[in-house]
Amino acid sequence: MILILAPNTRTDSEEFKRLEDFLRQMPNIRHRVHQEVGEQQLLTEVYLIGDTASLSVDEVSTLPTVERVVRISEEYRVLGRHQDDQRSTSFEYNGVRFGQDTLQVFAGLCAVNTREHVERMMQALRSHGQVCTRMGAYKPRTNPYSFQGHGKECLPYVFELAGKYGIKVIAMEITHEAHVDEIRAALQQTGNPTGVMLQIGTRNTQNFELLKYVGRQHEFPVLLKRGFGITLEESLNAAEYLASEGNRKVVFGLRGMKTNMGDPHRNFVDFAHVPVVKRLTRMPVCIDPSHSVGARDKAPDGLLDLMHATAQGVIAGANMILVDFHPDPSKALVDGPQALTLEELPYFLDDVGIAREAYEKRVKLAGRFKPGVFSV
Ligand code: PEP
Ligand code: MN
Repeated sequence: MILILAPNTRTDSEEFKRLEDFLRQMPNIRHRVHQEVGEQQLLTEVYLIGDTASLSVDEVSTLPTVERVVRISEEYRVLGRHQDDQRSTSFEYNGVRFGQDTLQVFAGLCAVNTREHVERMMQALRSHGQVCTRMGAYKPRTNPYSFQGHGKECLPYVFELAGKYGIKVIAMEITHEAHVDEIRAALQQTGNPTGVMLQIGTRNTQNFELLKYVGRQHEFPVLLKRGFGITLEESLNAAEYLASEGNRKVVFGLRGMKTNMGDPHRNFVDFAHVPVVKRLTRMPVCIDPSHSVGARDKAPDGLLDLMHATAQGVIAGANMILVDFHPDPSKALVDGPQALTLEELPYFLDDVGIAREAYEKRVKLAGRFKPGVFSV
């Protein structure tokens, strides 16, 4: 059960203390307080855990500071929707809004290789009005002898260049908790010119200690990629680990499933799950067409499979696109064969725009539809 408190309720207020005193004397029920600093107000929710079946919603609603009560199922306590449409499905970070109703493109380098390539990428993004990017510094590689990423060495110039070109959010994978501290230190050292969304990759989706560490910090939002070989439910529970530790600024990333049933694509594209994740949880949903498709093969209609997959995700309501670009893919140290070129950036953005417009029209059409009286 969730108690949603009146906005701006302070946890040091007399009323809140009375509420907590009351909750403490209830047998077999523990409670946990979650606070979210919103754009205009402080939102507080109290989660009751344990034997809540016997509690009456009406009675609990009369407790001090309680505005609303939502009875929840066991699944995804914090991030789930629980048939309640009033709780927030968005968050803001460094001036950029991430929600189930917005769309942000994160085009960038799978792996940072040179300063010059980072600069050319960011220059192109700025000239096409983009304020987000992806930049890989810590790369989890299958082969221990492959390039592992430049790590913390590249962070200062990546962040400085981001500031120079007006980039507000960089999605950056971390594979160890020490990377969070390195990112924080490099941001401070360069005067916080940009923001970072911590990316937890598919190989670490169920690295529970890493999830708990990242969930305990509230400074950076998180992009959690779906595990490539586990069920959707297991991956959504992994996201809930972040939220249960207090960080609700989580975007859920679809990146395809590992199975040879998806051949010849690198992974089996799973973007039909965009609306499923939006229905089950309050998280915005990201699609990663690059790591799903994994190649630049072209269909007979002249479109790359990668662009087709992107459009499929966007037309289904995706809220973020993580996509590999490179100024010179032949020189990319990781995933060059799936990278789009800077020349293709405006074309890619226009194609995304078409799919987004079609999605918005579909939502309007669905709103007009009434069974038995359908007219367009
Ligand atoms: C990546 O985005 O660079 C990446 C390694 O993705 P994934 O974790 O989905 O394989
Ligand atoms: Mn990659």
